Amino acid sequence: MRARLLFGWCTAGFLAVTLSLGPGAGVQAAAPTADLVLLGGKIITMDRQFSTAQAAAIQGGKFAAVGTNGQMQAYVGPSTRVVDLHGRTVVPGLIDSHIHAIRQGLTWDAELHWQTVPSLAEGLRMIRERAARTPPGTWIVVAGGWHESQFTERRKPTPQEIDAISADHPIWVQYLYDEAMMNRAAMTAVGLTAETKDPFGGKVLKDASGQPTGVVTGFGGINAFYFKIPRPAPEDQVSGTRDWFRELNRLGMTGVGDVAGGGLIWPGDYRAVTALHDRGELTLRVHWYMQPNRPGGELDVIKRFVTEVRPGTGDAWLRPVGVGEQVLASAYDGDAFGPLPPQFSPKAIDDWRAAVRMIIESGWRFQAHATRNHSAEQLLPAIEEINREIPVQNRRLAFAHMEDVTPDTIRRIRALGGGITIQDRMVFSGDEIAQNWPPDIVQNAPPMKAMLAMGLPLGGGTDATRVAPYNPFVSLWWIVTGHTVAGHPIRAPRANLSRLQALRVYTLGSAWFNMDEDQVGSIEPGKNADLAVLSADYLTVPADQIKDLVSVLTIVGGRAVYGAGDYQALAR
Ligand SMILES: [Zn+2]
Repeated sequence: MRARLLFGWCTAGFLAVTLSLGPGAGVQAAAPTADLVLLGGKIITMDRQFSTAQAAAIQGGKFAAVGTNGQMQAYVGPSTRVVDLHGRTVVPGLIDSHIHAIRQGLTWDAELHWQTVPSLAEGLRMIRERAARTPPGTWIVVAGGWHESQFTERRKPTPQEIDAISADHPIWVQYLYDEAMMNRAAMTAVGLTAETKDPFGGKVLKDASGQPTGVVTGFGGINAFYFKIPRPAPEDQVSGTRDWFRELNRLGMTGVGDVAGGGLIWPGDYRAVTALHDRGELTLRVHWYMQPNRPGGELDVIKRFVTEVRPGTGDAWLRPVGVGEQVLASAYDGDAFGPLPPQFSPKAIDDWRAAVRMIIESGWRFQAHATRNHSAEQLLPAIEEINREIPVQNRRLAFAHMEDVTPDTIRRIRALGGGITIQDRMVFSGDEIAQNWPPDIVQNAPPMKAMLAMGLPLGGGTDATRVAPYNPFVSLWWIVTGHTVAGHPIRAPRANLSRLQALRVYTLGSAWFNMDEDQVGSIEPGKNADLAVLSADYLTVPADQIKDLVSVLTIVGGRAVYGAGDYQALAR
């Protein structure tokens, strides 16, 4: 303990000296020895000047200095590990400000993932292969994260194709939050019969004779049955979370704003991520939201949360940051990509006012889902009313999605000190939106340029894992090109962000929503050493290849958590 304290003091004292020299400097007469020095790269620091550096020194989990190869040589001592970047591009660790990561971790190892599967034939082969090597009765689950337009066949499987694979293994194939199909074994396992009624917010499809077809639709319909699938054992949930976070590390991710999601029950379902944290095995910084997930009873859950959990608790690895994304089921517009936005009931607005009041009065904040501008217009008056009593400007209240947000709503959110998190759901749903919304809205969706021009804080992300791919490079590609996964150009080129703007949104921008932009999000002395060394140059690779980038070395808090090729040994 004494050694640790001493070490902490030394680091802090040293950093104060370095910082006083200003960005990019960090050289002093007797530089202390670094743990790790990275040389010979193209480091996109994301500092105020968007400056690029050759080299960086890491000490005690933080960046000690950033500069030229010559400057960093001064930090190399006998025990320093020196890594040659071979000219590779380095970016600050990527942060997804809106992802359902904790939920996915619980089942990651048990499920099949179709995110990068190029054909339906290959997807079905994966299911057959899993059925051939698992005992009868074992569930085979594809829980979204794919789109029919990514397949060469350009279509979804049919219920008959799923049913033909196995009579002994229950099979579940989910498509976005549109529908899920089950084979007969799965229907038996979840108790789906001719008598089953439509659940709230969904439908059970039946044939002419009244028998269920195995297809259920809608957010409510899917959740009503998905959560009947048995969860992996607790220790498997822990290892699933560990493996899933490593997969995100492979893609350069070092942090998430976890927006809970349907079915993730606080606090029980946070046990796996907490166990990883307590064992010191987290490789991703997790900032989490609490979603009540009790339709009609949300106020009770929120009350319990704000009473039992205090803002500012947790640490740099695992920290609660608010309520959301679905604060109330009744004031939630889902994936409202249709022509007309939903209208909330007067009761829903009353409950929303009560929820916001409870959250604000207790010192908390929220990130609230709103696909449509019209939904935010219905939710904003209650916040503005409470703001006149208790100023909320320092709470960083966030709306998520908002693909059709108007300048007036941007102004109102800005005036409340809030921001918007954007996601690449349109890589899957862009064509549907283009059919239903006016062209001038679609060509701007979401209006990121207007948001930045108006000074609105913007966070990057995916909304993975059900309705969008989790790959941050697919999202960065979408921000700078506006294309769907099928390659259709949806957004007008003038409305796309530049690569540097997109990267800033995905690093410092997201960090702002996690309230730790002073700790992460850029490669600057004193900040946590979170970075990714990329497989190709993000700034100069052809735009269409941005989505193919991966990390070859990911470092979080100074520790290598993923390495490929030459760097594999570093991550052991
Ligand atoms: Zn959402």
